[in-house]
Amino acid sequence: MIGWQNQLNSLDQRGLLRRLRTVTSDQGAYVEIDGQRVLLLCSNNYLGLATHPKVIEASRKATSRFGAGSGGSRLISGSMSCHQRLEEGLAAFKGSERALLFNSGYAANSGILQALFEEGDLIFSDALNHASIIDGCRLSKARTVIYPHGDVAALETLMAQESSHRKGRWLIVTDGVFSMDGDSAPLPELVRLKNRYDALLMVDDAHGTGVLGASGRGSGEHLGCLTEIDLHMGTLGKALGGAGAYLAGPAAAIELLINRARSFIFSTSLPPAVPAAASAALEIVAGEEGAHLRQRLRENRTLFVAGLRAGGLTVIEHSSPIVPVITVDPEPTMAVSQRLLAEGYFVQGIRPPTVPSGSCRLRATLMAVHQPADLSAAAQAVVQAVQGVPR
Ligand SMILES: *Cc1c(COP(=O)(O)O)cnc(C)c1O
Repeated sequence: MIGWQNQLNSLDQRGLLRRLRTVTSDQGAYVEIDGQRVLLLCSNNYLGLATHPKVIEASRKATSRFGAGSGGSRLISGSMSCHQRLEEGLAAFKGSERALLFNSGYAANSGILQALFEEGDLIFSDALNHASIIDGCRLSKARTVIYPHGDVAALETLMAQESSHRKGRWLIVTDGVFSMDGDSAPLPELVRLKNRYDALLMVDDAHGTGVLGASGRGSGEHLGCLTEIDLHMGTLGKALGGAGAYLAGPAAAIELLINRARSFIFSTSLPPAVPAAASAALEIVAGEEGAHLRQRLRENRTLFVAGLRAGGLTVIEHSSPIVPVITVDPEPTMAVSQRLLAEGYFVQGIRPPTVPSGSCRLRATLMAVHQPADLSAAAQAVVQAVQGVPR
């Protein structure tokens, strides 16, 4: 059909063809794939809240009371009390005036950047920002300047250059935790720059929210600059165990998004069960149980990384539950992932275009609900599986 099969063949020849794997169980520390029970080492359900009894119960109750669907977009008939309650909870959690829900992180980033920044504005975007930020920049009429990953000095030089002919609003946008390596953005330094150049700072904390900071408020809390972040974007599908995303920020920004963000306006709102579950998850995250789960997660990460290092692997030092083992080429990386799966460990191999060519990786993610003994065994299995693979 019009060349599609040729495109697929070409991807396949380069080891870049992607296929879906079907999970036939719930998403705990173990999942069932093709009838085989495997240790799950590639989930973003970091705290295990996707299967937490209180979260499930909140979801069930909301479905019974409010039905399976919302019946419309937020601006028509689909704005329900459960959406509003979650937005109030998220605004309080991030210390912002207001918050607005989106149906996914992808929809949030594309809508936020499209709606809040217009012609004459300038967006400074980290080179390794998530694809949804990149697409949001494309949808915005603002101009985008990409700065080298985490390079504050290079960003400052770019800002200084641009300031001679400045017109509109300026934004620095960054992932809080970068999804492929798990490293953190240099937020305190970005705060210094945004103050110096009168810019706004937007942090996409998809991987930090719930996981980092003493009370789970994310990268800003972790790095001591939560209140300096102007626009807090985060998702509900990772540590919060559900689905959807939000922006927390100034009331005027939220009001403008309601009026202008196309991904918000032209989409049916999340079904009642989703915001209800997220509200329950948020309570857990902010409470004592959340602190306990984060402690377990940190201990699990330390244990797993120690196992990899004992086997001679290099692991970058950072605070997130994302643990990449860098390889080079797609085929051997996917072969290792396949071998690990056969041995009962589900670790994804990551290939271009998700990461730059020549920097494939096995990317393990840890969960609070993993058992230490399982992780020690998994680390050993990874060490053995990557032996002989170019790194
Ligand atoms: C996962 C992720 C998103 C997308 O969120 P979804 O809710 O899954 O669409 C956006 N930004 C970052 C940094 C992410 O890791």
